[in-house]
Amino acid sequence: MLGEQTLTNRPIYLDCHATTPVDQRVLEAMLPFFTENFGNPASINHIYGWEAEAAVKAARQTLADAINATPEEIIFTSGATEANNLAIKGVAEAYFSKGRHIITVQTEHNAVLDPCNYLRSLGFDITLLPVQPDGLLDLNQLEKAIRPDTILVSVMAANNEIGVLQPLAEIGAICRNANILFHTDAAQALGKIPLNVDAMKIDLLSMTGHKIYAPKGIGALYVRRRNPRVKLSPQLHGGGHERGMRSGTLYTPQIVGFAKAVEIALTEQESENQRLTQLRQRLWEQLSQLEGIYLNGHPTQRLAGNLNISVEGVDGAALLLGLQPVVAISSGSACTSTKTTPSHVLIALGRSEQLAYASLRFGIGRYNTEEEIDQVAQSAIATISSLRRQPLLNSSATH
Ligand SMILES: *Cc1c(COP(=O)(O)O)cnc(C)c1O
Repeated sequence: MLGEQTLTNRPIYLDCHATTPVDQRVLEAMLPFFTENFGNPASINHIYGWEAEAAVKAARQTLADAINATPEEIIFTSGATEANNLAIKGVAEAYFSKGRHIITVQTEHNAVLDPCNYLRSLGFDITLLPVQPDGLLDLNQLEKAIRPDTILVSVMAANNEIGVLQPLAEIGAICRNANILFHTDAAQALGKIPLNVDAMKIDLLSMTGHKIYAPKGIGALYVRRRNPRVKLSPQLHGGGHERGMRSGTLYTPQIVGFAKAVEIALTEQESENQRLTQLRQRLWEQLSQLEGIYLNGHPTQRLAGNLNISVEGVDGAALLLGLQPVVAISSGSACTSTKTTPSHVLIALGRSEQLAYASLRFGIGRYNTEEEIDQVAQSAIATISSLRRQPLLNSSATH
């Protein structure tokens, strides 16, 4: 499907952890809500409002069912960044008289780390747990970090760089026993692995649409309503939408598309995970024929479509530049306006700066084919081999 839309000669898209295209079925479900059914779901006096409200209600039910929650526990947001901010700052404000200690992990997304850093500047105490070399959290370390004044533990479900899946049920049990709220950023996990907020004892869960073939700009936060009932301070004040926890007119077309995307992802989850695992293995088998290629993250406790490798003896920037015409992927470095820094996730795994810079994150998705994987593998092997043959050119490249 994507192939039809893609102009020839554009690089193969293997960056599905960054974002995904909108599925045609999602787009079709959304379209009527831009034009004929354009009503405001909060308009209670006429059919335009009622129609929109009915669509939002059905979507809310779909999202709740996807994680074994109830519809009243779903708050729509603009994405996972907003959901994480609402969860972390909202809990911090509501519980600060109980305690000011929050536990999270070094390998979290910046949408968790930055709200925590902000809270630190306000006087909260933040513990950043390290991870093991495979990216998994050490549960003993988590237990040891818990204090009487701990109010929240935030651990992501699936990592956006290395795909590693944290043991949510075990973490949830530890938190519930200690009477501490458990938040998980499930932006990469929703629709890809089974999520059950009751079985996993999750109290808050962040979601987003654009990683699962829905549009950008829509997400949700699950907030537990019973056993325990989570208190949350709203971060957006206004018309009192979403039971006062997130004011702002609901974005009906995006909400409808988000629910459709979740429905498709769940229906296809098992078969798609098998297909993606095969593609990932096909890619890894070819790449690992080269010397000095290292897999980042746990070999099996990871998202089916994720492969993250570090490459010895090449410059990270030169590697990415060489691959750019063939494949759209991300590397393990983040460019800010002034400098390039190695991925904080790969550094947390204990990788050297060189290996953290010279890394590639492959995010394989719904529209990728075996032929594309083979083409990318061949191109990567050729690029790496050629860079290794040119040590001077290679080492003179700058970050
Ligand atoms: C993409 C992503 C986010 C940010 O989500 P947005 O909806 O783009 O705000 C947060 N956390 C993780 C793990 C992600 O992959």
